[in-house]
Amino acid sequence: MSAKTSQFATRVIHAGQTTDAATGAVMPPIVTSTTFEWEALGQPREHIYTRSSNPTRDALERCVAELESGVRGLAYASGQAATAGVLDLLDAGSHVIAPLDFYGGTRRLFDQVRRRTSALDFSWVDMTDPAAVAAAVRPATKLIWIETPTNPLLKVTDLAAIVAIARQHKVLTCADNTFATPCYQRPLELGVDIVMHSATKYFGGHSDVLGGINVVADAELGKQLHMVRSASGGVLGPFDAYLVLRGIKTLALRMERHCANALAVAQYLEKHPRVARVYYPGLPAHPQHALAKRQMAGGFGGIVCFEIQGDAGAIGGFMNRLQVFTVAESLGAVESLVGQPATMSHSSVPADERRKMGIADNLVRLSVGIEGLDDLLADLDQALQSP
Ligand SMILES: *Cc1c(COP(=O)(O)O)cnc(C)c1O
Repeated sequence: MSAKTSQFATRVIHAGQTTDAATGAVMPPIVTSTTFEWEALGQPREHIYTRSSNPTRDALERCVAELESGVRGLAYASGQAATAGVLDLLDAGSHVIAPLDFYGGTRRLFDQVRRRTSALDFSWVDMTDPAAVAAAVRPATKLIWIETPTNPLLKVTDLAAIVAIARQHKVLTCADNTFATPCYQRPLELGVDIVMHSATKYFGGHSDVLGGINVVADAELGKQLHMVRSASGGVLGPFDAYLVLRGIKTLALRMERHCANALAVAQYLEKHPRVARVYYPGLPAHPQHALAKRQMAGGFGGIVCFEIQGDAGAIGGFMNRLQVFTVAESLGAVESLVGQPATMSHSSVPADERRKMGIADNLVRLSVGIEGLDDLLADLDQALQSP
């Protein structure tokens, strides 16, 4: 069977997986050994030391590389470690173009850490406008960081348009594909150089493992990323690699339900009198709906955001009345979660910057899970009843 030509739901189960030659085990064994015996001095085997490579982590990396149509995957201890690994490719003093609205933790690493420790300079640009990205390119620009759809405002970036600009100026591109997952969006196929994932979210899918992955389409770039990862050491452990791999087996099945539930929730909220504004790329009213339809083949993801009407107390009242949705950080797992970006996922972004990003204090972020839809809608309905 060629995993490349088969359906995605088949590929998530078989990509990069072979029966274990030694035992016939169908699932890759969890290899906990940190070190591997050499055949003789000067003759190491395939694996030497687990910080560089490990059989269980390799199985996960092969799987995700194939799902993202890349040649090599590299797994890290968290999504943030994966992002740091990409920044480690850059020389001190490089300029990076990044989205105005994106994951607050990435923004913190860029702005509050790497600006200081690596003298990186950043321009925050509204990436829904490719002309604004082109205008931000300088001689020192070495990387365009893309996140699409963005966290939390679900803005959609035209990947092919940004790649065209980047290639013209010989600038590296990296796309955070956490929200769309390779089920619906494969940036490497559109010419993006690196795809980054927080595996903590949809890949793991059960809120029980932290991880990150980068995938590249170019073997040489893969070697460079591997070198800096071995040097800095933020690798994913074998137990966690196993859990992520296990999660991916049901990725296609889960994403189908996440998307169907999220679309129905977005449609419900759009009609509710207490809801001022809904953000979801699957709604025709979304400003980049046409692009999302073209670029995200078959699904718009499981995250829905909306602004609730009323004073500062309204959002707390609503969130605390919810019973099926749990008030908690994170997203992308089987259970539905609800958060207020201003005080939770994006609290590390200063308030005036947050306003510039368009993140209002009354913005609610829903990670719509795979529970029964009627229960989710009934829960939202009762929580939206009283002001
Ligand atoms: C959660 C998240 C990250 C960071 O990943 P961790 O696994 O929490 O380190 C990066 N990007 C996006 C879009 C995320 O949602």
